[in-house]
Amino acid sequence: MIDYENLGKLNLPFFDAYKKAFEDTLNSGWYILGDKVKSFENDFSNYCEAKYCVGVANGLDALTLSLKSFNFKEGSEVIVPSNTYIATILSIIHNGLKPVLVEPDINTYNIDPTKIEEKITSKTVAIMVVHLYGKMCNMESINFLAKKNNLKVIEDCAQAHGASLKKIKAGNWGDIGAFSFYPTKNLGAIADGGAITTSIIENADSIRTLRNYGSKIKYHNEIVGFNSRLDEIQAAFLSIKLKRLNEINEHKRFLANIYQNNLKTDYIKPAIDTDYYDVFHIYNIRHPKRDELKEYLLKNEVKTEIHYPITPVKQKAMIGILDKIKTPIADEIHDTTLSLPISFFHTEEDILKVIEIMNKF
Ligand SMILES: *Cc1c(COP(=O)(O)O)cnc(C)c1O
Repeated sequence: MIDYENLGKLNLPFFDAYKKAFEDTLNSGWYILGDKVKSFENDFSNYCEAKYCVGVANGLDALTLSLKSFNFKEGSEVIVPSNTYIATILSIIHNGLKPVLVEPDINTYNIDPTKIEEKITSKTVAIMVVHLYGKMCNMESINFLAKKNNLKVIEDCAQAHGASLKKIKAGNWGDIGAFSFYPTKNLGAIADGGAITTSIIENADSIRTLRNYGSKIKYHNEIVGFNSRLDEIQAAFLSIKLKRLNEINEHKRFLANIYQNNLKTDYIKPAIDTDYYDVFHIYNIRHPKRDELKEYLLKNEVKTEIHYPITPVKQKAMIGILDKIKTPIADEIHDTTLSLPISFFHTEEDILKVIEIMNKF
């Protein structure tokens, strides 16, 4: 059986270093907001080439606190793609703001910049982009539109650690980048974790305060805060894995390239553009008989996933929240997309095997 993902195998190269880091942290007796979090924040802001990084509890909180740090007026509108993981949209809702969906580009699966301006109203305050599957959005067009319309830009970088456009990394194009370190992500912890990157000191300060009960000095609560802290042990693990993030991303790109060159043309493959350094958190193809294909692959001992089976508009939780608009492009992607094995532990042989089976379908 070829697994889609296997977190034990994925983390195997890090076991020894993790065990040592665990023991160090345990012995230190300091488990929340200490040197390890500070040190990871420093490492990750350097990696992303942003001035500041603030560790938080998970990706959803990174997005939610990013929005919170701007103090937008309740009911303001935030532009967001119609094909994303629900977390992006939840962060807007949890801030008392209104998500306004914009369809993706059918070739890149990322928000279509040509469809943004028609959705901007006097209430629009921000554009929240998602670098889906590990490919950056067209940030030049998005930043141009944001500047022209006086909007903030927040990047959902949960699938894009180390991705770049024209050599500028994800998390460094917009006002704030929000990252998740959920175990399956390219930079994954072994529990929940998240962080924001920004070069704006006011937002970094605000998020640093918000994550810790609205307090800068212990027991002095300046604002209505949250408890959303990255813990010391996960931070220690993340600093270890971060040193090899480029290697992880390069391995995924190597495997993606094998799919790209060898899968038969019946499959719609990801768009490649040399300005974009894609990190393939997910390698997806599209096929009109996606469900049949998934079944066929499972019968042939290849596990796959669907990202995602249901569009945000069609989720039960969104009844009465998201306008009942038609999102035909998001529908088309959700109905035809299939994610193929592309983990750090997969080998060239694994991928060639998947291709051989797929080319007989
Ligand atoms: C994983 C993910 C998130 C949420 O991250 P959590 O750490 O699970 O809260 C948000 N947005 C996207 C696009 C994701 O893939």
